[in-house]
Order: sequence, then C-alpha cells, then structure tokens
Amino acid sequence: MTRRISIFGATGSIGQNTVDLIARDPDAYDVVALTGGANISRLAEDAKRLNADLAVTCYPDRLDDLRAALRGTGIEVAAGEAALIEAADRPADWIMSAIVGAAGLAPGFRALRHGTTLALANKESLVTAGPLLLAEARAHDATILPVDSEHSAVFQALVGEEMDAVERIIITASGGGLRDWSLEALANATVADAGAHPNWDMGQRITIDSASMFNKAMELIETKEFFGVPPARIEAVVHPQSIVHALVGFNDGALMAHLGAPDMRHAIGYALHWPDRRDLPVNRIDLAQVATLEFRAPDLRRYPALGIAQSVMETGGRAGCIFNAAKEIALDGFIAGRIGFMDMAGVVEATLDAMSSEFGLTISPSTLEEVLEVDQMARDRAWSCIRQKEIA
Ligand code: NAD
Ligand code: MG
Repeated sequence: MTRRISIFGATGSIGQNTVDLIARDPDAYDVVALTGGANISRLAEDAKRLNADLAVTCYPDRLDDLRAALRGTGIEVAAGEAALIEAADRPADWIMSAIVGAAGLAPGFRALRHGTTLALANKESLVTAGPLLLAEARAHDATILPVDSEHSAVFQALVGEEMDAVERIIITASGGGLRDWSLEALANATVADAGAHPNWDMGQRITIDSASMFNKAMELIETKEFFGVPPARIEAVVHPQSIVHALVGFNDGALMAHLGAPDMRHAIGYALHWPDRRDLPVNRIDLAQVATLEFRAPDLRRYPALGIAQSVMETGGRAGCIFNAAKEIALDGFIAGRIGFMDMAGVVEATLDAMSSEFGLTISPSTLEEVLEVDQMARDRAWSCIRQKEIA
C-alpha cells in the first residue's frame, strides 16, 4: 500500500534527508505536499522528482517564481502562512515537520487534527508548546514520533520498557565546533567559527546553536516535554565522537545506550518505518575503528544555555516559549553582528527576567494563539535587551 506523505521544510537539511529516503523507494509513497522557502529551484525540482500534488513556498513574493518553475507539470503551487496550514489540512498518513523555528509550530499542530503521524524534527514545537501539542495529538488519536537524533535514540531505548522503571535520561552533546576554545576566545567567536560543525552536517542556525549548546538546552526541554520525566532526572553529557546519541538509566542500574553514525537519515528512517525497522543507507559503526568513546560533564561557564534550560524546565508554564523566542532573536543578533557569541545567553536570561517581572512565567498558554502572543512579546523584549547591550 502506498503511504501518503508530506514534508514541511523539504528544502532544508532534515527535509533533504527525508526526500533522499523517499526518492529511494518512490513506489511506496504518494507525496502530497512539499514546502520550502527561498530555494525555489530545489523545491520545484524535488516536487517534480517525487511527483508531489502541491508545492508551497512560505514567501508570497516567490510564488510567481515557483509557478514558473512548475509550469506544465500539473503540480499545484501556493505561498504564505495560510497556504502552509492548507497543506497541513491535506490528508496524509505521515508528515515530516522540519521547518526551522517557531514557524514550524502552526502547520504541525494543524496536521495533528487529522489524526496523522507527525515525525517531529521541529524541536521548537515541543519547547514552546509541548503540553498543548501532546494534548492535541491525544484528542485526535494522532501519533508524534521524535526525529531529533537524541530523542529518537531515547525512544528506541524505551521500546518494551515501563516509564516507571526509568531513573534518568542522558542526552549527549558533541560540544560543537568551538569545544576546545578558551573562554576568552569564545567571547570573540565569529559566525563563521560557530557555523562549522566537526561531526554533523546541518543548517547554519542549528550548527551555531550546537556551538553555544542552545541546541542541547532546547533538547533538554524537549526531553522533559516529550517523555514527561522530571527535570532533575535529565542530563546532558559532552561526547565529542557523536556515536552514542542518548542513554536511558533504569531503576536496576542498567544504562541502555543508542549508538549510530552521525547521520540524520537514521532517526528520520526510524520514524518513517516505525514500528518496524528497515534497511537504511547509513554507515555502520566499526567499534574497533572508533576505538574510544569519551564522556565529560559540560562546563556551565562555557555553556550557560544549559543552566538556563534547567531553570526553564523547573519553571514550566510559558518559560519554554519565552526561552525559544529569545534564543532565536539572540541568534539573529549574533548573526547580524550586533552581539557577541557569549552575549546570547545574557539576552535570553534578561528576556526571561523581564517577562517574569511583567507577567510571571508559570501560567501555561492554553491555546495556540496565546502561545504565538507570548512568543511575539518575548521577541520584542529580546530585541530591547539587544539594543540595551549595544548602548552599554
Ligand atoms: P534548515 O534551515 O536547513 O531548513 C529549514 C526549512 O524550513 C527549509 O525548508 C526552509 O525553507 C523552511 N523555512 C524556513 N523559515 C520558514 C518559515 N518562516 N516558514 C516556513 N518554512 C520556513 O533547518 P534544518 O537544519 O533542516 O532543521 C529543521 C528543524 O529540525 C529545526 O527545528 C531543527 O532544530 C531540527 N533538527 C535539525 C537537525 C539537523 O540535523 N539539521 C537535527 C535535529 C533537529
Ligand atoms: Mg539533536
């Protein structure tokens, strides 16, 4: 039976890895919608290659280009936020949520209404609106499968286990491209320095987030939201080889680790074929060649994002939403050259403090609209924090 699938964020790093897996077995899938951004030729080419029904760019001013690129193919074209929601309404059995940032929340949330299986790469969805997203899935008998490699690893280590027996969850962090830099050097790291990753080939934003460990901070919060484990039982450990992706500790002292090559097609493929396992085109680990697996505790002075994540997890409520929004703006500020690499954490903390004294953090948003409102407020506050830093 062919499965109807859609890929949101098809032109990105996760999206392209998903396209790669689908293209290897075209007869097994009926591609409903592909969405992308400014890379119109990539989007159009994949829409043709996979024979999609619909291609959507999030940029309305690029609709004409997309239309021109797909003229005569019979593939429908659309653009803008409403078109993304409309694409999420099209019946599909499996949907990849791989838009980057908070923009990925609304389409994924909408897709759950139709009882689909949502493969969730967009970690911002869980961090900003975890409880809401899980409740929506429950209400419509939809399934959410983790695609972030650490969470896929935890998910796999938990197959056949009872959550009551889980004592702790440990996710690993490569330490990013700047892991051996001195604290003084880190303060002057440029966008090019932070945008090069030793192990993983990913989009620019997530690569910089790896160097600052804001990515790991997001993943700690994601772990709490998805697996429902108390914050004190969730840890990050630095593991430079990126071979062990996560470990689950049980009440009898056993630690179950998930090992695999650093290739996102593993986690994507697991979600695509779940609950089965199928052959995947990923490198096999040669342990003798790897020889050593190192682990060390993260230094919180180098990675202040991890400390912030711990308090965000403990606070709950709207703290995750504010954290995510502030960290996106702090990253924009860093990429634009307005603040330094180590200033990003300061901006996020100052934003959380400002919103805490103005509105309080503990009340959870109860609708998607409320989430987006808090998100916008946090973005405005974060920009004011950046301006204050520039004046100081
Ligand atoms: P990317 O930047 O390579 O691709 C992002 C995709 O989203 C592109 O298709 C782009 O066109 C689209 N997009 C960007 N802004 C948009 C907007 N405002 N509205 C609609 N679409 C928009 O990102 P990525 O590295 O593929 O990451 C995608 C998501 O997966 C992120 O949430 C990231 O944290 C998560 N993730 C990525 C990796 C990885 O290895 N790349 C691993 C784990 C989790
Ligand atoms: Mg990850």
